[in-house]
Amino acid sequence: MSTNGQAASFLDKSRIKAADLDHRKKINFNIGKYESVVPQGKQQFDNVNLARERAKNIKWRAIETLDQQLERFEQAFSSRGGKVIWAETAEDALQEIITICREKNCRSIVKSKSMVTEEIHLNEFLEKNGIESVETDLGEYIQQLDHEPPYHIVTPAMHKSKEDIARLFHEKLHSAPGLSPAELTLVARDKLRTKYPEAAIGITGANFIIAETGSIAITENEGNGRLSCAFPKTHIVITGIEKVIPSLTDLALFWPLLSTFGTGQKVTVYNTIVTGPKQANETDGPEEMYVILLDNCRTNIIKNPKQRESLYCIRCGACLNACPIYKNIGGHAYGATYSGPIGSVITPHLQGMADFKHLSYASSLCGNCTEVCSVKINLHELLLENRKESVDEGLAPFSEKMAWKMWKIASLKRGLMNMGSGNLKNKVVNGLFKGWKEHRSELDFSQKTFNQMWKERFKKN
Ligand code: SF4
Repeated sequence: MSTNGQAASFLDKSRIKAADLDHRKKINFNIGKYESVVPQGKQQFDNVNLARERAKNIKWRAIETLDQQLERFEQAFSSRGGKVIWAETAEDALQEIITICREKNCRSIVKSKSMVTEEIHLNEFLEKNGIESVETDLGEYIQQLDHEPPYHIVTPAMHKSKEDIARLFHEKLHSAPGLSPAELTLVARDKLRTKYPEAAIGITGANFIIAETGSIAITENEGNGRLSCAFPKTHIVITGIEKVIPSLTDLALFWPLLSTFGTGQKVTVYNTIVTGPKQANETDGPEEMYVILLDNCRTNIIKNPKQRESLYCIRCGACLNACPIYKNIGGHAYGATYSGPIGSVITPHLQGMADFKHLSYASSLCGNCTEVCSVKINLHELLLENRKESVDEGLAPFSEKMAWKMWKIASLKRGLMNMGSGNLKNKVVNGLFKGWKEHRSELDFSQKTFNQMWKERFKKN
């Protein structure tokens, strides 16, 4: 899609969703449930702000020493028989995965929830290569059945009601109509359980990669991630390079933080640490294990000292739930893998400033995202920084440049500011900047100039 095409598509989708009251009702219902449990989860911390600060410090250290942390990880993981693959681009990662699939003569894959696999469009790629890839997380399974990408980084089917899902299962899986959530879960379970023994390869993401021990940590609530990595003979992990934390003991902070800010739980139901393939004295686990460390433009962010902080993100999703824009336009309008405030910060760097700079303007700059971020990323400031960078790169449209030029000239000359009545200024400015009025109320200039008001006030006193 062209540069303007991305922005136009974003505006079109946003306009439709913002007026969709049914969509808003479902989102408010689901985010309302989240908001009601998060305060309970936070009670487990003596000082939740200190916990967030500490987590930020740990991620700061991990990202500042990323090269060393990743090499430590590779060494430790390889020493237990695992293979690390460094992938610079999405295409590199896909080629590595297909090579492994061909070696194993793989026709079927079970997959647990992973935003990185969405980022590289893995399922479409595997499908084109004749390999079935089955999402085993319930939310992702629902989205896969509906041929939709995830709507939210933690709760992929957040925009669907239980009635929507019952209808979908009836249509696609021929289950009885109007099933309850418990019955729907059993239908999905029955379908998915048959897939694990058939699959030659399991693919998972990683919530954290632990440099010290060469392990990956997976957090989930359904046990499907554990089955996906333990059942098939080959386990492939694909993860962004920024997911590294230095030490195993750091999980004592990150696990409760991710659980509370992600879903309001004190601790997520399944937390799995995997350190290489099955060892000689072990009975369970995959015979081979690969970890693909994906860059895919993350090093662009590392190079940028101001934006580097966005790599501390642990994908808890709290900033999405808190964002007034996200709540109105939903996750799909963004047209990017990562939506909400964190998506608006990182997407221009991952997928191109020219195509995605408009996302940095999808913010009221209320700062709610920064307030709720589990690792205290200054999200709203990074959005402003993106805007600045896009202007520095010369990407601002001609009309915008001219508007600021005129504003600068006028605001530096008191005589020009005082020219004409408020009505005349309204007419001229609102007539000139028609684009501004499309999504906002008209500018309304004061009838009196600042000089007039100042003189009147001075006289009175
Ligand atoms: S930016 Fe912060 S709040 Fe948003 S998903 Fe990442 S860690 Fe969570």
